Amino acid sequence: MDCLFCRIARKEIPAKIVYEDGLVLAFEDVNPQAPVHVLVIPKKHISTSLEISDKDDALIGYMVQAANKIARERGIAERGFRMVMNCNKDAGQSVFHIHMHVLGGRLLQWPPG
Ligand code: 5GP
Ligand code: ZN
Repeated sequence: MDCLFCRIARKEIPAKIVYEDGLVLAFEDVNPQAPVHVLVIPKKHISTSLEISDKDDALIGYMVQAANKIARERGIAERGFRMVMNCNKDAGQSVFHIHMHVLGGRLLQWPPG
């Protein structure tokens, strides 16, 4: 499939991988917006959060657990961090394979803009 993140998951495009198992992949965002900016993706292609189905419930929970694991490993769990999943145009989604941004290492503003 001609999807950027599917291609990263298949190792056709290089990325700085920070975590991988059978279900998910996590890698450094190429344009980091915070000292820690990692993307967690399911290996399964799902284009937007609106396409998440009942049978994906465990997978999405697993993505959250992977994000928590990364936050702990990077030492930002206690201070705080943010998980973000943008959906469609107004939210600024630019890659249509769902991904959870894990952002931290600085004070994050709210509202996010
Ligand atoms: P979105 O805007 O869809 O929520 O987030 C897409 C993210 O993917 C952006 O933060 C962008 O910097 C990142 N990104 C886009 N292309 C690549 C790439 O080829 N490699 C990596 N590592 N990150 C990418
Ligand atoms: Zn994909």
